[in-house]
Amino acid sequence: MADGKKICSLLFEQFPSPEIALNFSSPLELLIATILSAQCTDKRVNIVTKPLFERYRTVDDYSEAELLEIEQYIHSTGFYRNKAKSIKTCCQIINKQFKGSVPSTMEDLLTLPGVGRKTANVVLGAAFGIPSLPVDTHVIRVSNRLGLADSKDPDKIELQLMKQVSRNDWMHFATSLILHGRQICKAIKPECGSCYIYSECEWKEKPDYS
Ligand code: SF4
Repeated sequence: MADGKKICSLLFEQFPSPEIALNFSSPLELLIATILSAQCTDKRVNIVTKPLFERYRTVDDYSEAELLEIEQYIHSTGFYRNKAKSIKTCCQIINKQFKGSVPSTMEDLLTLPGVGRKTANVVLGAAFGIPSLPVDTHVIRVSNRLGLADSKDPDKIELQLMKQVSRNDWMHFATSLILHGRQICKAIKPECGSCYIYSECEWKEKPDYS
């Protein structure tokens, strides 16, 4: 198994204080941006959320909104009908069950429509500062290549990574791994020649530079 501590320190040297790519100014905005980010780029989501967050500011605004109008704002993120329904229903549940505030536990977040472990972990980690380890497509690919995980199942990978990284570093680690996956360890043609974790990587298809 790869050396999680060493990989962590190499990643953290590269990304001392990484931030998630989605723009938000409150837990509610991050929850909505993360729901919109399914099957969509963060860049596109940030374009869409700028006018969306100006139009709808509170849980009540979304709860009372016409679905058709939300759909028009979020159309370009794909799956817009399902996403609009999830956003509106989420906000109605937040009003009824959680006194109008986005919940701050995994258990409660998972009761909201359109919210899986990845979305819940993003909200917990980035909006509430609670140790959490979101597993997205980059984390799945890079952690498997490095030898930190041996599964395609995000829930299993989350557990495997949690065991190898200090609890307080979970969010820092996941965010760094995502950036590393975007910049260097790309899905097609990873740039192994300029990779600062090359010596620790166990990927069998890694080019040989020794
Ligand atoms: S050596 Fe290549 S495969 Fe391994 S982490 Fe670096 S870029 Fe990814």
